[in-house]
Amino acid sequence: MIYVALISYTPDPERTIAAAARVSTSSARASQLMEKLAPQAVDRLLGLLISSGHLSPFEHASFTFAIEGISRVTSHQLVRHRMASYTQQSQRYVSLKDFHYITPATISAKGELEAEYHQMVRAAHALYLKMLDAGIPMEDARYVLPQAAETRLVMTMNARELIHVCSLRLCLRAQWEIVELFEKVKAEVEKVAPRLAAELKPKCYRLGYCDEAESCGIFPTLAEVGEKTQRKR
Ligand SMILES: Cc1cc2nc3c(=O)[nH]c(=O)nc-3n(C[C@H](O)[C@H](O)[C@H](O)COP(=O)(O)OP(=O)(O)OC[C@H]3O[C@@H](n4cnc5c(N)ncnc54)[C@H](O)[C@@H]3O)c2cc1C
Repeated sequence: MIYVALISYTPDPERTIAAAARVSTSSARASQLMEKLAPQAVDRLLGLLISSGHLSPFEHASFTFAIEGISRVTSHQLVRHRMASYTQQSQRYVSLKDFHYITPATISAKGELEAEYHQMVRAAHALYLKMLDAGIPMEDARYVLPQAAETRLVMTMNARELIHVCSLRLCLRAQWEIVELFEKVKAEVEKVAPRLAAELKPKCYRLGYCDEAESCGIFPTLAEVGEKTQRKR
């Protein structure tokens, strides 16, 4: 099961973003604004920043998550988002004698294939152990391990990147495992920054349409919206 814990974050993150934004239009110091801004003003300002696309103030609040129980398939997708920091458990230095791996639900649902899947993964792991016993270093023996291998990492993202990555990875066109991961990331942010968490949503909610080739059904694609407008004319 995917485990996500927010292990550290910028104190008072939403107020920090709002105070940073107000610096551009106020003669007051950021430290004064931090004290002065009422919660309602913070909420309103965050909404204005989002709707006007003035997103740089969101870079002043950072969030660090401990993430466990994801496959290497998902960690590979995750680290493509480059405006973030990652530290991942190394398969060169940590032996995987105690091996955990992810089984997608679609495979679990197919009895016979599921058995074959487990057999294949266990065989790969058995060969890994055999190679370690034969003196092959972990960094080379790991070549035989599948992408299903479980991994853990620490990830730091600022609020701007969180909004951006969630817009892509909470989209139901993204793969189920990374969608689940970002649902949990959002739930962690919600505990300390609910106004910000409300902005962690798939891109279609902001666009008002789906920009993928095929829609999941929540919003129509742009082509479908176009068709409707044409029909009305
Ligand atoms: C549903 C889905 C399917 C995907 N499928 C594939 C796939 O099949 N194959 C594949 O390879 N990837 C795939 N990706 C990954 C995708 O192409 C991106 O690499 C990934 O989503 C990271 O995007 P990012 O906007 O966070 O960009 P980042 O790469 O983190 O960049 C962040 C920002 O910096 C800018 N930037 C970064 N580097 C440069 C640069 N060198 N020059 C100019 N601007 C730069 C970008 O424009 C962007 O605004 C998929 C992603 C999703 C969400």
